[in-house]
Amino acid sequence: MSITEAIKKIESEIPKSVCLVAVSKTKPDSAIMEAYDHGQRDFGENKVQDLCDKYERLPKDIKWHFIGHLQRNKVKYLVDFVHLIHGVDSLRLLKEINKRAGNVDKKVDCLLQIFIADEETKFGLDVDESMEMISGGILNELPNVNIRGLMGMATNTDDMEKVAKEFRKLKTHFYEIKGIIQKPDFDILSMGMTNDYQIAVKEGSNMVRIGSLIFGARG
Ligand SMILES: *Cc1c(COP(=O)(O)O)cnc(C)c1O
Repeated sequence: MSITEAIKKIESEIPKSVCLVAVSKTKPDSAIMEAYDHGQRDFGENKVQDLCDKYERLPKDIKWHFIGHLQRNKVKYLVDFVHLIHGVDSLRLLKEINKRAGNVDKKVDCLLQIFIADEETKFGLDVDESMEMISGGILNELPNVNIRGLMGMATNTDDMEKVAKEFRKLKTHFYEIKGIIQKPDFDILSMGMTNDYQIAVKEGSNMVRIGSLIFGARG
C-alpha cells in the first residue's frame, strides 16, 4: 500500500472529527511530502533535533506534533513553532515550557501524558498525579501553556479487550478532569496508534497518532 492509499484507508475508517497525526519519525522528507501532497498537514516526531530539522526544510503550514519524551533542556528549541506537545509528564517540564514559551511570547498547547498501560517503559503521570496537578490550581500560574487534553498509550498486546479497557479508563479520566477545569478548549483525547486506532476511536479518541501503517515499518 502506498502512503497515499494508507491515509485514504484510515480516513475512510475514522470520523472527520478525529484528527489524524501522521507519525513521520525516522522517515525521510520525501515520504512526508507524499502525504503532504495528499493534503495531510499534521505530522508527529519524537526527537527534538529531527523535528527542528524537518521544520526548517519542509513547508511552513505543517502542524508539527511532538510525541516523544521531552527533556527540559530541549524545550527551548521547539516552543517557537510546535503545534502540540503530547507528552507532558511532570510539573517541572510544564513549568519549563511555560518559561520558554513566555520568552518568545507564545502560548503552547500541551497534552498531559497519562500512564494507562501495565508496562514499565512508558512515561506518564498516573491518574492521581494528574488530578493533583489540575485541581491544585497551578495551571493558573502558567499563562504560557494551554492544557488541551490528555494523551495515553495502551499496553502493546493482542488482547484487544485489555486495550479497550485502558482507553476507557483514559476517557473517563479525561471527562473527570474536564469537569474540574471548566475549560471549553480542554478537548483533545489523543489515543490510538497503528495497532489499536480503531479501538481507540470506538472508545472516544479524537486524535490518533499513526506511523507504520502509513509510512511502513521503521528499521
Ligand atoms: C511511534 C509512535 C506512534 C506511532 O506508532 P505506530 O505503531 O508506528 O503507529 C504513536 N505515538 C507515539 C507516542 C509514538 O512514539
